[in-house]
Amino acid sequence: MRRFIRWSQYTAFALLLCAGHGLQAGVFLLPTSNQAIYEPGGEDRFFVGTTGRTWESGTFGGVRSGGHQFHEGLDIRCLNHDQRGEPADPILASAEGKVAYINRKPSLSNYGTYLILQHRIDGIEVYTVYAHLSEVRGDLQAGSPVKAGEQIGVMGRTANTGEGISKERAHLHYEICLLIHDQFAAWHAKYRRGQRNDHGNWNGQATRGLDPRAILLRQRAEGDRFNLATYIRNQTELCRVQVRDTDFPWLRRYPSLVARNLRAEKEGVAGYEISLNFVGVPYRMMPLTAGELQSRSTVYLVSVNAAERARDRSGKLVTERNGGWELTQAGRDLISLITY
Ligand SMILES: [Zn+2]
Repeated sequence: MRRFIRWSQYTAFALLLCAGHGLQAGVFLLPTSNQAIYEPGGEDRFFVGTTGRTWESGTFGGVRSGGHQFHEGLDIRCLNHDQRGEPADPILASAEGKVAYINRKPSLSNYGTYLILQHRIDGIEVYTVYAHLSEVRGDLQAGSPVKAGEQIGVMGRTANTGEGISKERAHLHYEICLLIHDQFAAWHAKYRRGQRNDHGNWNGQATRGLDPRAILLRQRAEGDRFNLATYIRNQTELCRVQVRDTDFPWLRRYPSLVARNLRAEKEGVAGYEISLNFVGVPYRMMPLTAGELQSRSTVYLVSVNAAERARDRSGKLVTERNGGWELTQAGRDLISLITY
């Protein structure tokens, strides 16, 4: 516990960060003392690329394997080392909230030792993920409240991948996510019978990431005008899917992402049209009447934004076949989980 700076110190640090940013509580603070993302040309000092690659490969999106591999967060460069050259940066809660999940067994995940926090910002239930830690603060457990800027762990190099993370590449993997479904374990048990699920409802497939860099820079530019719900509603559409389900948790968890349809309010809702971004974040749900559903099937791909598909090819939700678009297995699985 000696490695954790004292409460008064990290509170002062958090206040300093807030003051420095001109931001109020309720927006995201950077999760380490590395602030170079806000400095012109600071990207090299903020992001850690993959071995032999530029800093861009440490950002969010299809930045790996020639653009075909998705990276769901930011890899934030280490600033502090101990005598052995190990990363020692304090890891700070990005916003006020509570602990959703802690994995203290690094061998169980390519995220190594990690922690997920739950927050409510601008009416949106949002999660932040802190991965590859050397340790999570000992007294924290699921449900523990945390303040913005409070130290929650120490940067490390944990991961269960064969190659590991070198000292030179030491970083925090940081995500901002929405929760697709809170009963992932039950969905997995039904549709993935016999396959391992080491993290219950907190399997990585249960959440979908937003671009933290875009959010951080946008809230920096907009200050008090920044609104997370508005930001999410303005995602670029990859595709739209109609479903015949009328009752699933997303509708209750994210009511501000459900659009209004006066006709459906009058005649009754028979299904929803879901707008997905390239990551698969269902950022808009439009209730539909029976007459507005275009197909008898329970899941129907209405349209694909080919330009967005071409811009980032790491998403694997839709594919072109015989001159038309269809949902891939991953796309069908996502819809299955959303509507479970
Ligand atoms: Zn990463």
